[in-house]
Amino acid sequence: MQGLRDVLEQTQKNGLAVGHFNFADTVLLKAIFAAAQELKVPVLVGASEGEREFLGVRQAAALVRSLREEFDFPIFLNADHTHSLAKAVEAAKAGFDAIVFDLSALPFDQNVRQTKQAVEALKSINPAILVEGEIGDIGTGSEIHEEAPDLSKGLTTPVEAKQYVESSGVDILAPAVGNMHGLLKSMLQGQTRKRLDIQRIAQIKSATRVPLTLHGASGTDEQDLRKAIAAGINIVHINTELRVAWRRGLESGLAKQPDEVVPYKILPNVVESVKQVTRSRLRLFSQR
Ligand SMILES: [Zn+2]
Repeated sequence: MQGLRDVLEQTQKNGLAVGHFNFADTVLLKAIFAAAQELKVPVLVGASEGEREFLGVRQAAALVRSLREEFDFPIFLNADHTHSLAKAVEAAKAGFDAIVFDLSALPFDQNVRQTKQAVEALKSINPAILVEGEIGDIGTGSEIHEEAPDLSKGLTTPVEAKQYVESSGVDILAPAVGNMHGLLKSMLQGQTRKRLDIQRIAQIKSATRVPLTLHGASGTDEQDLRKAIAAGINIVHINTELRVAWRRGLESGLAKQPDEVVPYKILPNVVESVKQVTRSRLRLFSQR
């Protein structure tokens, strides 16, 4: 079985990216895994601090490990947006394959210094673990926002990206390149779409030469996503689109069977709804 690092290298060689999808329950995980299995592409699943708190850190790790082993399938687990070393260590000890160590809210120098310490601590627990660092501002909360935040001042520059990667020792970098967490109301119906700074991605890639992650990719223009992958993005995060599909699937499942109380008769509707979105995103990221 290939490790996550090998999978990232291989997909990059092929000019493709690995899809990253968040889960906080087994319905989401089941849907994501089914879509990846159907398309026969590696997949990264992630759980943020809040998602881990709901599902359980060791429980999330055990679920993903059981899928990987039973089906001999390249599914990997990421501790998304981890804001403290204690939580990062907890995830590393539980067997997560990657950690997003996110101190992007701190001043640059503090972010570098504390991320470097975290990289050393996490690699001493698991030398194969991949640590991702974040610089710039991409907003918070994978949910529906009323208004667009002004993120223009928080875009990552190639110079600071290079300095950050070299000084902190992170394996993966998450830059701010026009992406944003969450969706605006206008994006729900597709009237507006997020646009990416493709040239900036290419410059950051050539300055850093490390795998790059695009966070907050829900609701992004599809041509921009293709171009971003060609310019050097290796991991694409989708969360809000899945959450919307989860809720719609649940609502329609309940509406179809107003008297049903059996979870495993209602929830397949949610699995199908989430699976459809995951499949369409995975197709986009894994086919040129
Ligand atoms: Zn994110």
